[in-house]
Amino acid sequence: MPIERLIFSLLQSPLVVSMTFNPVFEAEKIKDLIISWRRDFHMYPELKYEEERTSKIVEEHLREWGYSIKRVGTGIIADIGDGEKTIALRADMDALPIQEENDVPYKSRIPGKMHACGHDAHTAMLLGAGKIIAEHAEEFNGRVRLIFQPAEEGGNGAVKMIEGGALEGVNAIFGFHVWMDLPSGVIGIREGPFLAGAGIFSGKLVGKGGHGAAPHEARDPLPALAELILAYQTIVSRNVDPIETGVVSVTSVHAGTAFNVIPEKAEFKGTFRFFKGEVGELIKRRMDEIARGVAIAHNLEYELSIDELTPPTINDPEMAGFARKVAEKYGLKYGEVPPTMGAEDFSFYLQRVPGAFLALGIRNEEKGIIYPHHHPKFDVDEDVLHLGTAMEVALALEFLR
Ligand SMILES: [Zn+2]
Ligand SMILES: [Zn+2]
Repeated sequence: MPIERLIFSLLQSPLVVSMTFNPVFEAEKIKDLIISWRRDFHMYPELKYEEERTSKIVEEHLREWGYSIKRVGTGIIADIGDGEKTIALRADMDALPIQEENDVPYKSRIPGKMHACGHDAHTAMLLGAGKIIAEHAEEFNGRVRLIFQPAEEGGNGAVKMIEGGALEGVNAIFGFHVWMDLPSGVIGIREGPFLAGAGIFSGKLVGKGGHGAAPHEARDPLPALAELILAYQTIVSRNVDPIETGVVSVTSVHAGTAFNVIPEKAEFKGTFRFFKGEVGELIKRRMDEIARGVAIAHNLEYELSIDELTPPTINDPEMAGFARKVAEKYGLKYGEVPPTMGAEDFSFYLQRVPGAFLALGIRNEEKGIIYPHHHPKFDVDEDVLHLGTAMEVALALEFLR
């Protein structure tokens, strides 16, 4: 290699970056600390809006490192530095009502509660980033805001944080989720739609109860409910454009108690998912039309309530591209992460400011870390958590340049 080329390639390599301040090396130095925080959070999981212990520990560290703190219930908005630009980094802190089945020293000490989605890891990773950023504050040419939010699991904690001012003055936001469908240590970056929008529905068909042997004297809601469930399956297969994506799942039905009694009513509920707003609207409209049509056809009354819980998580293409460049610059492994029909309340932040939701691969077959999110045997490959920390610090450093 000619000497000019060699010098050029050295200049491009992470080695040269390390001569000054390198987030990857800094994160490596506190790898064990990040793991010990994660284990502590893992042993004492707290459900949505109950994150008292977790947020207290987070707040104590951040105060000690010089952050200014604003409390939003069990959530924390922590700022450091100032300048023209502000970047926000977000972690969620809540656990799930699941009994852990892992046999590990850091197994959940709280019966019936478990960090089965990896939010313990998110909190530990961002805490690590907070420590590095505070210790090298002079390297950051602007303000860094850390958002530790409650209640991601069905509680829309993000909305509470936004109402509490989490996005005021913020120019860009990034968040991480550990990801079982990616090999350990790979950062998953995706432009555009990443996670789906989610909604719930519940309803009932109401007729007239009677003797099971005299259906002509009753108005039986059960055959009607069977029709409704099948008809709902035609919304995605017959109404939604085949190029688009949607899900309608009836997940619970309830009617009657006895073998010889026709019940008065039949209840149902379920979830729907979509990536585009117009698909969500179409699904909602068709669910209502079908329920009404089935009720009329069977001489029944119907009730249906439909709530949109979470909008789709759509990554800003420019910010996803920026994240890719940052990963490249610091020699972090990255790849494309496929979209999923799961949902994430990070979408509420992305509706308001540009940013990207990133994935950190934690699947490690050799270590037996293969169980999906929300499974009682879910675990994360702790040895890569510092890479998430490194990426968070690097995103802040590069965005504020
Ligand atoms: Zn989850
Ligand atoms: Zn999660």
